[in-house]
Amino acid sequence: METSTGQQPDYPQWRELAARVEPRTQAFIGGRFVPARSGKTFAAINPATEALLAEVSACDAEDVDLAVQAARAAFEAGHWSRRSPGERKKVLQRLGDLIAAHREEFALLDSLNMGKRVADAWQFDVPASAELFAWYGEAIDKINGELPPTEPGNLALVSREPLGVVGAVVPWNFPLDMVAWKVAPALAAGNSVVLKPAEQSPLSALRLAELAREAGLPDGVLNVVPGLGETAGAALGLHPDVDVLAFTGSAAIGKRFMEYAARSNMKQVWLECGGKSPNLVFDDADDLDLAAQKACFGIFFNQGEVCSANSRLLVQRSIHDAFVEKLVEHARAWYPGDPLDPASGMGAIVDRTQFERIAASITRGRREASLACGGSDVQVNGKGWFIEPTVFVGVAPTAELAREEIFGPVLSVLPFDTEEEAVRMANDSIYGLAASVWSGRLSRAHRVAASLRAGTVSVNTVDALSMQTPFGGFRQSGFGRDLSLHALDKFTGLKTTWIKY
Ligand code: NAD
Ligand code: MN
Repeated sequence: METSTGQQPDYPQWRELAARVEPRTQAFIGGRFVPARSGKTFAAINPATEALLAEVSACDAEDVDLAVQAARAAFEAGHWSRRSPGERKKVLQRLGDLIAAHREEFALLDSLNMGKRVADAWQFDVPASAELFAWYGEAIDKINGELPPTEPGNLALVSREPLGVVGAVVPWNFPLDMVAWKVAPALAAGNSVVLKPAEQSPLSALRLAELAREAGLPDGVLNVVPGLGETAGAALGLHPDVDVLAFTGSAAIGKRFMEYAARSNMKQVWLECGGKSPNLVFDDADDLDLAAQKACFGIFFNQGEVCSANSRLLVQRSIHDAFVEKLVEHARAWYPGDPLDPASGMGAIVDRTQFERIAASITRGRREASLACGGSDVQVNGKGWFIEPTVFVGVAPTAELAREEIFGPVLSVLPFDTEEEAVRMANDSIYGLAASVWSGRLSRAHRVAASLRAGTVSVNTVDALSMQTPFGGFRQSGFGRDLSLHALDKFTGLKTTWIKY
């Protein structure tokens, strides 16, 4: 498919381009596409139309083993692992350029595969991934070692070394970005990678591997094994020759990876799991309308399928009713529709399973709180898995709506009276990924931000995020950080070399 990097195509053009997308469907191992040894496949379905996009190779333990062997051989050969940082930089920059040059194609692969708005994939996901590869490429020849002070006649050198074979297991909500967050720093540091994309969204990862080869990445350095979690994912987690496993997904499966490591080779495990992130709106916020607008963005962007989604809205009682009114007004802009239509507020939910999970949460929610808006499912042209932007009010802190991650467009509003109460409620969660605070008082904003147990606290905005700042959580939101130079900690080990003279 021919693509450009100009202006975003309009609706009819997206439909035309979509008809011409040709997904890669096989595993990418040792620099080429190969079918699963078993010959098995799984269906890639468009959740907006329920149409079959492709049959994708379903890798299992045998394929994962071949991929790990290819990764290990490439690592030992040193064409990448011992290549100069400046040379690795050039390859990663070229890969960034190639992603940008295939902007429409990548946007469509993710949109068609998991239902997000193609306009968002085009505007946010694809350029961010392209930049991230270039950014880690740029960074890697600027990382120095250490020279700790020693007694005379001794010289100690501390260097950062690649760990070897990195297993990456990623989710479906930002398919290309989640791949980039793990793969870019892992490759920059000189590792080889075996990547298992989510079974709901394998297509962009396969295309990326092909472009990485075109950019000059040696064969075997990046391998992609599409397949189910219980088979391909488990095989990677249990593999005795994987040195580090970087995961993003649910807390339940994150825990599984710690077990896999314990049962196999004690590989390092890094987890980025979910959240139930609170958004605290105080009555002294400067712009309550902006706060309401951003609160909607915080829960409805990407259909609410965001690990740091602001799914708990804590509003001071004095402004509660007026604020909910504004919220409901802004929620209208997020009405779902065809993901290829830039006028749609949200796209489709990733698949039927996730749709049914969200619908069941809403049904149970109706018994413990009241609906301010939404709550129903929607179809587009009689097809697909869509859910209205949904707001529950009068949610008790003990209600399931206030505790369980829903991973859909469902917001729970809880009133509070005092700052102390708000902080206590906000921190009352097994998670600690993100939080937001709205207040025009400098001292309150600082005081509350300092008290919140969250990896990222956004003040007078939501979902603050950049390549330059670390992303990750406390508690059962996981450990280790993605993005920023800190992500390199996951993919490097410190080595001391001591010279006596
Ligand atoms: P998941 O945790 O089941 O899947 C994430 C990845 O792990 C996928 O690649 C999957 O194939 C793999 N996996 C699944 N089961 C596995 C197993 N037994 N062994 C090894 N690998 C396995 O997430 P999901 O089922 O796609 O979504 C369910 C929930 O996960 C959501 O409702 C949400 O709470 C959470 N989630 C979080 C994020 C995030 O960014 N933190 C992203 C997606 C989903
Ligand atoms: Mn699952």
